[in-house]
Amino acid sequence: MLSKTDTDKCVACSTCVVQCPVAEVTTKFLGPRMLGPASERFRLLNDGEDSSLTYCANCKNCDISCPQGVGVSNINMLARAAYAKKHRPSFRDWILAHGELESRLAGIFPAALANFGMANPISKCILDKIGISKKADLPRFASKQLAAAFKAYKQPEQLSKKVVFFPGCFIKAYAPQTGMDFVWLLNKAGYRVELPDAFCCCGTPLYTNGFADDARKNAEKNLAEMRKWKEQGIKVLALCPSCELMFKEELPVFFPDLAHDGASYLENGEEFVLGCISRGELVIDAPGNAMKDKKIIYHAPCHLRALGSGMPGLDMLGSIPGLKVSSASAGCCGISGSYGFKKEKYDISMAIGSKLFQSIKNSNADLAATECGTCKVQIMHGTAMPCEHPVSILKHYLEKEQQ
Ligand code: SF4
Ligand code: SF4
Repeated sequence: MLSKTDTDKCVACSTCVVQCPVAEVTTKFLGPRMLGPASERFRLLNDGEDSSLTYCANCKNCDISCPQGVGVSNINMLARAAYAKKHRPSFRDWILAHGELESRLAGIFPAALANFGMANPISKCILDKIGISKKADLPRFASKQLAAAFKAYKQPEQLSKKVVFFPGCFIKAYAPQTGMDFVWLLNKAGYRVELPDAFCCCGTPLYTNGFADDARKNAEKNLAEMRKWKEQGIKVLALCPSCELMFKEELPVFFPDLAHDGASYLENGEEFVLGCISRGELVIDAPGNAMKDKKIIYHAPCHLRALGSGMPGLDMLGSIPGLKVSSASAGCCGISGSYGFKKEKYDISMAIGSKLFQSIKNSNADLAATECGTCKVQIMHGTAMPCEHPVSILKHYLEKEQQ
């Protein structure tokens, strides 16, 4: 019976417990060792479930730290999916899981109206009643979502090379400028960009909130589209570490029949830009005055660290002449997608993020930088400092240098 998971590799050393940001700040959560491999033995015998599973933020710090290579977070997420089959997720969780659908509905109305509908005191009280904290800063819909901004943008005619962009639902609805800055950089490096309509949310918010069937449908659509491009030898690039992690490490575990070769479909967009710089396709002019003496503090999202392939965003910022870059190195921001928006988890999320907020505030930086959309939301909420994606900072630099 004990199969498919790495449960038996656990030697109960508790390293994961020490590294779990949720276990550090609340006793409501049993912790990775107990809820993961220890409880899994009972769950596999159909003898045990624990509602504190919903307190796992799926931040992956347990996986990063485990010396035995136990995939604790995936054990937890599979257990949570099984739990959600028996205990229907709440309406609140449905709303937080289906942000992409809501952004499509919101797109029917002017963004100001849609945002007012979400952010005015009366709506905040209603949201609070259904379990979305009124203290949380929910992301705001952009006035022009990515699909519309991309359609209105004219790419240079003479581009001979091509890449495909998988934007993820956050960039699509809330941060289209990040996506357009990426398109601008790729064009400048000589690549025409395709943005297929068929791409939908990678499924992370769906799966982690208990909607595994919906996550599966999205995986089917996304993988079918990605396969088409892969067969033509064209790279598909992502800017969000959570999307990348979903395809590379989670889908093959959650839906092995669909995504056994998931790792080969999606590539890191920042690594691609770094490759463009090293191949001379994208020229960084030295010395450059556009960013002279500007200070940036960088936060590495947990899901980027979980990918284990370095920090291309930090490297990219480091390549900008004149810019002073430091890394916050202060762990998890606490948001974990929609986790920190939940009423019962808001305070936990802010307590987790407090070290990072302090590190950013102490840095006296002009700007914070990170790749993950909801980390950005949390950093701005916890520090009142502006925060940008590294590709936007590089684009800003190159554009200014050209003037
Ligand atoms: S770190 Fe790994 S081996 Fe140690 S208790 Fe946690 S899951 Fe088990
Ligand atoms: S995924 Fe994060 S919150 Fe969940 S058990 Fe692991 S370290 Fe803790």
